[in-house]
Amino acid sequence: MHPRKTRFAPSPTGLIHLGNVRTALFSKLYGQCFLLRIEDTDQARSREEFVAALMDDMRWLGLTWDEGPLSAKAAADYHQSQRGRLYDDYFLRLVEEGLAYPCFCSPTELEIARKVQLSAGQPPRYSGKCGRLNHDDIAAKYAEGLKPTLRFRVPKDAVVEFDDLVRGPQRFTNNDIGDFIIRRADGSAAFFFCNAIDDALMGVSHVLRGDDHLSNTPRQIMILRALDLPLPSYGHTALILGDDGAPLSKRNGSRSIRELREEGYMPLAINNMLARLGHHYDCETLLDLDGLSDGFRVENLGKSPARFDLTHLNHWQELAVRTADDVTLWHWLPQDTRILVPEPQESAFLDIVRSNCRFPHEAHQWAAILFSDALERNAEVLDIAVQAGESFFRVAYDAAAQHPDDYPAFLEYLKRHAGAKGKGLFQPLRAAFTGRLDGPELPKLYAIMEPHRLRMRLAEFAQSAQ
Ligand code: GLU
Repeated sequence: MHPRKTRFAPSPTGLIHLGNVRTALFSKLYGQCFLLRIEDTDQARSREEFVAALMDDMRWLGLTWDEGPLSAKAAADYHQSQRGRLYDDYFLRLVEEGLAYPCFCSPTELEIARKVQLSAGQPPRYSGKCGRLNHDDIAAKYAEGLKPTLRFRVPKDAVVEFDDLVRGPQRFTNNDIGDFIIRRADGSAAFFFCNAIDDALMGVSHVLRGDDHLSNTPRQIMILRALDLPLPSYGHTALILGDDGAPLSKRNGSRSIRELREEGYMPLAINNMLARLGHHYDCETLLDLDGLSDGFRVENLGKSPARFDLTHLNHWQELAVRTADDVTLWHWLPQDTRILVPEPQESAFLDIVRSNCRFPHEAHQWAAILFSDALERNAEVLDIAVQAGESFFRVAYDAAAQHPDDYPAFLEYLKRHAGAKGKGLFQPLRAAFTGRLDGPELPKLYAIMEPHRLRMRLAEFAQSAQ
C-alpha cells in the first residue's frame, strides 16, 4: 500500500489566512506524505514574495512538507508556472484524440449566448458551436489570426459519480456541463486543468479542499479519465463562517497568519483551534501536531459550515502559554521586554507570565511593573490607598524592611501591627506593589521584586494615603 499522499496547493496571490491554512492543516494531519505545490499560473496576481511568506508561515506553524519547493525530495518542479510545457503535451494529446477543440467564439458572443440562456430559464453552458467546425473551418480561422481557447469536449449522456470523503456520494449529469475551457486564449492552462494534472502526476492520493471547489471536481475527473491518469479521492470541507454568519473574511474576523503571529498567538494555539473548526476531536486537551494527527478522522469533518470564534482561539492561546517551556516562552517575549528582566529572575518571571498573560504585550506590562520604577496608578487604586490609610503602609514598610526575603514573616508582622486582615490587607498591598488590583499571587510578587523597590512603593502609597 502506498502512503496516503495529501497536498496543499495555494495560489500565491496574498498572505495565507485562517481559511486557507485550515485546509493545509487538515491535509497535513491526514496525509502520511504531505506535498506543497505553488499554483502560480495567474501571472498578473501571483507574487514571489507571497510564495516566500506562505512557506515561512507554514514552517512557523509546523506545517512542513515532505515534498515541495526546497524539500529534500524534489522530484518535480512544484511551481506550476514552470510546468507549461508539460501541460502543452496533454493539450496536444486531447486535441489529437478529438477530446478537445479550439474555440474561436469571442467573449461578447459568449456573453450574449449566456444571457439568452439565462432569460430562457436555462442554465448557461457553451452551445458546442466550435466543436462542430471541420478541419478547413479551423484552418481558415487560424489564417485570420484568431487566437482560440481550447475546450474540453464533455461526453454526452453520461454522469460523473464519486464518493466524496466528507459529503458522501456525489452525482453530476454531463449534459448539465457545457464543453469547458481548459486553455485560455493566451495559451495558459485553466486552473482546474493543471490542478488535476499535477495531482495525478505528483501521486496525490487524497485531496482535501474547500467546498467552493466541488463544482470543479466532475470536470477534473473527466479530464483525468480522458488522459488515463489516476484519480485522487476528493473531500470537500465546509466553509468557515465569521461571527456574523457570513463567509469568513477580513471584515468579520479573519486574520492572516502574519497578523496573528505579530499579535503573539502561538502556533500551537492556532493549530488546536483550527483542527477543531469543522472537525471533531474526542479530547479537549491541547495537542501537538502528532497528537492532532493521531486523533484526526476524515469522517469527523463536518458537512455544515463551522463558525470561527475568537474566544476559542484565545482559549487555546491561554493553554499554549500556560504549558510553554522556558525557552519557547522566553523567545516569545519581545526583545524590549526581555531586557527589563534581571537574569536571576527570568525563570520566576516566566512563571508569572504563564499564569497571568495570554499575549506578549501583557507580559511586557508586568515586566515594566515588576522591574522598573515608574508605576501608574488609577483612581480606583488611589482610593484603595486612602481607605487603607497612611499608617497601614508605614507598618507595611517596616515589615518589608525587617523581612525583605521572607513573605510569611512580612505578613505576620503586618497582621500583628496593622490590625488589617482579608481583603483589607491583601488588596492595598497588591495595589501598592503593582498599581493594579489583579495579577500574580502576592508571595510571588514579593519574591520577584527588588526589596528596595517594594519599600519605595509602600512609602509612596503612605504619602498618597495621607
Ligand atoms: N490553487 C487552488 C486554490 O488556492 C487550489 C484548489 C485545490 O486545493 O484544489 O484555491
